[in-house]
Amino acid sequence: MVVNLSEQYSLLCDWISEIRDQDVQQDRMRFRRNLERIGEVAAYEISKVLACFEKEVQTPLGTAVAKNLKVQPVITTILRAGIPLHQGLLNFFDKADNGFISAYRKHRRDGSFDISLDYVSCPDLEGRVVIVSDPMLATGASLVKTIQYLREEGHPAEIHVVVAIACTVGIEYVLREEPSCRIWAGAIDDELTAKGYIVPGLGDAGDLAYGVKAQM
Ligand code: URA
Repeated sequence: MVVNLSEQYSLLCDWISEIRDQDVQQDRMRFRRNLERIGEVAAYEISKVLACFEKEVQTPLGTAVAKNLKVQPVITTILRAGIPLHQGLLNFFDKADNGFISAYRKHRRDGSFDISLDYVSCPDLEGRVVIVSDPMLATGASLVKTIQYLREEGHPAEIHVVVAIACTVGIEYVLREEPSCRIWAGAIDDELTAKGYIVPGLGDAGDLAYGVKAQM
């Protein structure tokens, strides 16, 4: 299942527009904050499909029956670019558990790359609702590798993927490899360059949020 969060106009479209805009991108704090806001909206939308229960709440004037989230999710993020989106999800799922994964593209001389998974810190995922956040779903290679790793670590009941911008081929790849996961995308683009960048996309999300990294 794929949900395009900007299919229908909402304020989220303004934030997507700003993270793409090369002039607005000069303001790094605004770039991070917009990703955070996209994470907040995604959390709100995902919460609508999560299990809830009813409980009685005592108000100063009486008793109200209120719906509450049944089980807290685990928000899992691919470092480093995923951090602002992660913070947005955590602002809304404020009792969630958290996991961090370092996955990066290890480039070869010919421009091709493998995904390398290094640092992993995750709670027990058995039976949990897991939300994986990464701002850009490009080839889908790092997401699939991350999800496969998470499945080996435990057996999550549900996996949701939150991205700011996805491209069509990446979505197709993720759903081919992981058909049960649900993708929540801020926007969907059609093109991917040979180097794995989304077009029109926004550029390098990690560099825009945290500064240009040195090539290793
Ligand atoms: N990662 C990015 O930061 N940008 C892209 O376009 C693709 C992957």
